[in-house]
Amino acid sequence: MNCEKITIKNSILIGDDSNLIKGKHVIISGDKIEKIADGKREEGRIIDADGAFLIPGLMNLHVHINRRNVSRGTGTFRMGAPAIELLPDGERMLYAVRNAWYELINQGITTMRDLCSVGRTANHLKEAINNGIIRGPRLIVCGMGIAATGGHETHRYKGAVEVDGPDEVMKATRNEIRLGADFIKVMSSGGIGGMPEREHPNWAELSEEEIAAAVFAAHTHKKEVTVHAMGIEPVLAALHAGVDGIEHGTMLNEEALDIMKRRDVYYVPTASGITAVANKEATQGSAELAATIRELVVNPQRESIKKAKARGILIGAGSDTLGSVLNELLIFEECGFTRKECLDTATCNAAKILHLEDKLGYVREGYIADLVLVDGNPLEDLRNLSNVRKVFKGGNEVTLEWLTNLQ
Ligand SMILES: [Zn+2]
Ligand SMILES: [Zn+2]
Repeated sequence: MNCEKITIKNSILIGDDSNLIKGKHVIISGDKIEKIADGKREEGRIIDADGAFLIPGLMNLHVHINRRNVSRGTGTFRMGAPAIELLPDGERMLYAVRNAWYELINQGITTMRDLCSVGRTANHLKEAINNGIIRGPRLIVCGMGIAATGGHETHRYKGAVEVDGPDEVMKATRNEIRLGADFIKVMSSGGIGGMPEREHPNWAELSEEEIAAAVFAAHTHKKEVTVHAMGIEPVLAALHAGVDGIEHGTMLNEEALDIMKRRDVYYVPTASGITAVANKEATQGSAELAATIRELVVNPQRESIKKAKARGILIGAGSDTLGSVLNELLIFEECGFTRKECLDTATCNAAKILHLEDKLGYVREGYIADLVLVDGNPLEDLRNLSNVRKVFKGGNEVTLEWLTNLQ
């Protein structure tokens, strides 16, 4: 527990109506925003924001912490995401730590939801952070994903267990909950990572009955289920089975949107990640495959995002392996979101998806002090989100010294 008091002065806050609020002193006490005060009140350590924008800590709702950001750095760090999946657990953990720190300190991502990690690295990292062994972002984890035999995340990527039939799916779901899953992830379609030989994004994998077994086992333990679902039949199977969230949703139709609206099913498109796969394929792989991915997945997904927005579906920002929160927000802007609506997908609406909207996602009194200071107004240009000056997690200023915690 942090006992330091901090006063952040001369920052600019963004109001709920996109209005800019100046002249407030934001006073942090312990892990909370204690007071947003007028005028001269100053307590504890004073941080002069010098006109920077103070926004909520950003949330990335779809990461694979093991294998993010693998193109950075030198040497083995260039090995590529699938190769990292094959490393021993201990070595892979170092990548996970580096990835978590990188996004936390450089991009102001204070909360990350991991959408499956081989060896359940994300669970172990979360435990280490919660136990104070190491410091890092807030992690919300699903352990391993749940896929059909030979299904998605069992080819080049290895983040899913392979099960068949409702009984096996139910057992696997209960096992992930036992091993610390905060939510459950199932695969109802193929993806693009194993194209063209091993999987197809529009082909069904786990059936409605199998997914319903996961939903039953999860909901009875008050855990939610989200689904990797491309195409349309796999999305409808998952929705009829009662899932709580849709990841990717590349071809959402009216029937799917009706169910999502009626049942408050959220939507995390990860468009930046999918677009990055197509771009990488175009420059480093097969131009033909890149064109296929764009036609099957990237382009129809833009329409899905526009339709979901028009319907008022709750949409969250997630990068997946190769994307980024900033690029996700820029795609939302292209799809007709206001810049405030883009920002909401990584702050207050992301918090709603996590059911943490009474604690996180706003700069408000009584909220947890997960905050980012950025230079320049993100509502004028979202790219200003990359001008991160300071990051706070739970009232602590995130520095390399704080992260390593070598007392
Ligand atoms: Zn996926
Ligand atoms: Zn993913």
